[in-house]
Amino acid sequence: MNEKIWLSSPHMSGNEQSYVKEAFDTNWVAPLGPNVNGFENDLQTYLKENSHVAALASGTSALHLSLILLDVKHGDEVICQSKTFSASANPIIYQGATPIFVDSERETWNMCPIQLDIAIKDRIAKGKKPKAIIAVHLYGMPYKVDELNKVAKQYNIPIIEDSAESLGSRYNGRNCGTFGDLSILSFNGNKIITTSGGGALVSPTAEFKEKAVFLATQARDNAPHYLHSKIGYNYRMSNIVAGIGRGQMTVLDSHVSKRRSNHEFYKNAFKAIGEITFLREPEGYFSNRWLTCILLDSYSTREGLRLALEKENIESRPLWKPMHQQPIFKDSPSYLNGVSDELFEKGLCLPSGSNLTDIELNRVVSAVNTYFEKC
Ligand SMILES: *Cc1c(COP(=O)(O)O)cnc(C)c1O
Repeated sequence: MNEKIWLSSPHMSGNEQSYVKEAFDTNWVAPLGPNVNGFENDLQTYLKENSHVAALASGTSALHLSLILLDVKHGDEVICQSKTFSASANPIIYQGATPIFVDSERETWNMCPIQLDIAIKDRIAKGKKPKAIIAVHLYGMPYKVDELNKVAKQYNIPIIEDSAESLGSRYNGRNCGTFGDLSILSFNGNKIITTSGGGALVSPTAEFKEKAVFLATQARDNAPHYLHSKIGYNYRMSNIVAGIGRGQMTVLDSHVSKRRSNHEFYKNAFKAIGEITFLREPEGYFSNRWLTCILLDSYSTREGLRLALEKENIESRPLWKPMHQQPIFKDSPSYLNGVSDELFEKGLCLPSGSNLTDIELNRVVSAVNTYFEKC
């Protein structure tokens, strides 16, 4: 059997271990320390726009704290992109709030501004103005930043930018992770850079960062004894994993280039296969191409191809199943136009890691070619 080819696996640079070793050597083995500060600084320097970064245990915890910082409480409504990974939506439930799902448009596969406007109007008419909007740059492709901002501003609703899959992507030259009233990043094992597990909250003000760090370290008031006037969380990043993050920051740009070149490679290789189409990068958009996704002409072609790849020990995965189709969210209100359902039916993510070799890429291509020759 050929060795397994993964969708997106961790890719270390070799620089990580020196930061981790330094943490051990200096006994900074705690959820604070020089690597945590250093990683936050590296991210701030990379993102620019005067961003303030709080390194946290995960992207999910960053989303949870975002909702708390925006005062989302029991009974509130929060709008969320339906086409996303469940971690975007779960923290809404942690807060006892109700998710309201909004469908995608076809140019970026992210939240549709028209559906967003319809949803907000309808929620207000039904008695509640949504407290926040969670918009996602899925697979690294930026959402329609200007259009979504315009709708959100019109109703004065803050946007939480879920940039978990899009570190290194840009919209009109500006980095994803700097567009939200609050933004989040993820460094889980499959992301563009990884700390094994980790995340960050990015905010445009020092105050929000300070509040996030306070809540993430058990909300300890300033007193010689343990004193709490707020409920706290244990959400801070460890100084050990932050060392991995510092090493990964030295190769972020090369990871982006490699993922983009994987995408170009597939696009070229499948030029002659009429059943396969790719998501274009619109003018002004720069995607990190975290995952290369293809659309097939039907569900049966997509599922047939997935199984054919599996037989060759190649991992692929259908595009994320929309939240409005998930059993846990079946009773949540949703505003739909059919786009995310169709993408789920016909879409497939291909192996996209920055550590893929030419041999592995060619194995994927020949498995795809063989499948279509047999069709
Ligand atoms: C990975 C991911 C998250 C969650 O990040 P974790 O660090 O795994 O908690 C949130 N949103 C999206 C879109 C993701 O892909």
